[in-house]
Amino acid sequence: MFGKHKTEVLVAGGGPVGLYTAIALRERNVDVDVYDQDPRLAARSYALALHPQSLRLLDEVGLAQRLTALGRRVDRIAFYDGLRKRAEISFGEIGGPFSYLLVLPQSTFETLLQERLERSRQRVHWSHRVQQLETDEQRIGVMVHKLDHVSLGYPVSIAESTITKSSLVDTQYVIGADGYESRVRNILDIDYQNHGDAGTFFVTEFESDRVIEPELRIVLEGPWANVCWPISEHRVRWSFQIDPREMDKADAGQLVRYIEDRAPWFHPRPREIHWTTLVRFERRLASTFGKGRIWLAGDAAHLTGPVGVQSVNIGLREGHDLASRIANALHNGDEESLNAYDEERRLEWQSLLGITGDIQGRNGVDPWIEQHRYRILPCLPGSGSDLDVMLRQLGLERTAESA
Ligand SMILES: Cc1cc2nc3c(=O)[nH]c(=O)nc-3n(C[C@H](O)[C@H](O)[C@H](O)COP(=O)(O)OP(=O)(O)OC[C@H]3O[C@@H](n4cnc5c(N)ncnc54)[C@H](O)[C@@H]3O)c2cc1C
Repeated sequence: MFGKHKTEVLVAGGGPVGLYTAIALRERNVDVDVYDQDPRLAARSYALALHPQSLRLLDEVGLAQRLTALGRRVDRIAFYDGLRKRAEISFGEIGGPFSYLLVLPQSTFETLLQERLERSRQRVHWSHRVQQLETDEQRIGVMVHKLDHVSLGYPVSIAESTITKSSLVDTQYVIGADGYESRVRNILDIDYQNHGDAGTFFVTEFESDRVIEPELRIVLEGPWANVCWPISEHRVRWSFQIDPREMDKADAGQLVRYIEDRAPWFHPRPREIHWTTLVRFERRLASTFGKGRIWLAGDAAHLTGPVGVQSVNIGLREGHDLASRIANALHNGDEESLNAYDEERRLEWQSLLGITGDIQGRNGVDPWIEQHRYRILPCLPGSGSDLDVMLRQLGLERTAESA
């Protein structure tokens, strides 16, 4: 019934989460194939920071030092209310060898992941779309379409794809790391519920006329969240949350106005603007992370705002977790631990999205911090116990009870 090509795990999606998951599976002697519908890796910065927890996971596969050499190490976060600094967080409090945030473009991160996967004698099948899944008691047949991408436009690039071949891959497990429009999630008919308003961000990267301090700056000004990423000594990314009704007014010409209005203490000015874009970030959570032999990780299962870079970093943890549990199921027949994946991951995201649990101010907490505590949580670049260490430095703590 199923295809001639066999593998133990098929990963749909060769973004950062899919690539890292495949590496973690290879480390555990699991056969894995990665299929991605795009012809190549992402070419832009996108999510541009790795949490301390991600660096610890990447160290397990020998990548943390190399990545650190290519990125910029950031040791602290400063919170501003627009006009002035209100609080600071030091990553040093987390402890261990990777107690810092690493700022580097997603494209650089993905390139290193792909090279590392190739060193495990595995490559990504680019231009292959996962189209359909058929399951029986033991196996999953995955229908994969090989695509030919045809460029239709010049000088404006427009691409269209045609199917040149279809094949059925025979696998025991499928991981849907196929991003926010996940085909795997849709085939399983899993709800992807909204949890709160989407945020629209005007994002720009520029070369600055002054040195940019290695500090992550988060500005909560009025209803808007804004963040300044120090990419290198002179390169910086600002993401300004804007009113979606003003999207047509947000362009490079407005950049200095945004800085003056929202961060008047920020004196560097753009010498050269590399790019600008508008991105809409939703807050969503899948009703389940999968079941049986088909599972989700990364943006396929959750979305949140960009400031804390939580979706992709926690996605790496999910990939690591799935790799351990699937290896355990394949090598020791332990299916039970795999079934717990869904509940544990959902609980974590329900807390991060403010669906369950609460955040309390501790004795002596700054009233501004306490007032903004629900907005601060998704802005923190951390998860698990690291996140609690960060909250404690602000005089906050998570509790299990609902708000
Ligand atoms: C302009 C921009 C700026 C961003 N800035 C930030 C930021 O500042 N902070 C932040 O946290 N996040 C940011 N993000 C989001 C961030 O890039 C994502 O959270 C991250 O890429 C998620 O990783 P992932 O591996 O889960 O999914 P993705 O990176 O989306 O990878 C999914 C992969 O699956 C492939 N795929 C999809 N469907 C199929 C299929 N049917 N078959 C095979 N392959 C398939 C896709 O081609 C893709 O390569 C930004 C995104 C954009 C576009």
